[in-house]
Amino acid sequence: MSDLATYLPRSLQEGMDWLIGRTSRKDKKTPPLSEEPRPYLDPQYSKAKVIDLDIREIVRLPTGFEYNEWIGSTTLSFFNNINILYSVLVNDYCNNESCPSMSAPNNVQYTWQDEKGKKAKCTAPQYIEYAMSYAERQFKDENVFPTKYGQVFPADFQSIIQRINRYFFHLLAHIYHSHFLHLLQFELHCHLNSIFCHYVHFLQEFDMLDPKDTYVLEDLIEVLQLNNKESQPSEPLGETSDSDKERGNINSIDSKAGATPEQ
Ligand SMILES: [Zn+2]
Repeated sequence: MSDLATYLPRSLQEGMDWLIGRTSRKDKKTPPLSEEPRPYLDPQYSKAKVIDLDIREIVRLPTGFEYNEWIGSTTLSFFNNINILYSVLVNDYCNNESCPSMSAPNNVQYTWQDEKGKKAKCTAPQYIEYAMSYAERQFKDENVFPTKYGQVFPADFQSIIQRINRYFFHLLAHIYHSHFLHLLQFELHCHLNSIFCHYVHFLQEFDMLDPKDTYVLEDLIEVLQLNNKESQPSEPLGETSDSDKERGNINSIDSKAGATPEQ
């Protein structure tokens, strides 16, 4: 870590100092929003990507593809890509000690509820394990993701996909908030940015999430100029059919920026 600090620019060094202090501090107090370092907004890093394609084009529903099949297979590919990226962080950087809560920008902390609606306080790696396990179960369930000829997608397929994608967004928000500097160490921030740009275009194209789900990274979305919606969605999903209970599964204090995190 000290070697890294010798070549980090001042703003990044401050961010790293904050990160080290934050993860070792025991009182878990969250700094005021104005002091929260967001190195991922620095143009030097936010502009770094590994692909330079018209992503908005490649997320569109291709001719001949069935709608559910397309959003399902695209979500599965995000699952794989985000998993690979997170595998760099889990254990060494994202563990129960370093990340005692599922934190995101704007002092947000997500809490988990199981499928019966029972809340459980958990660390970030636990939350991510629950979320990714839920997603994986859906992908493997023939009743949700049919693979045989003649099978149909379930009536609640879109709400399941939306729920999975909300989890993915939480995971990306946690990575940006707590582990951006770690990925920068490995020069993987460009991969993170590429996945995020692709992902946001996908979410927008299919109206997958509400603004209240994505506002935690709204400043990054602005910096990356991802808000320029040029066309109507391929096929609007309409109102989310998540039940209140399901929506409660996915967040807790995210409706109030700056709210005191749960302890
Ligand atoms: Zn973490």
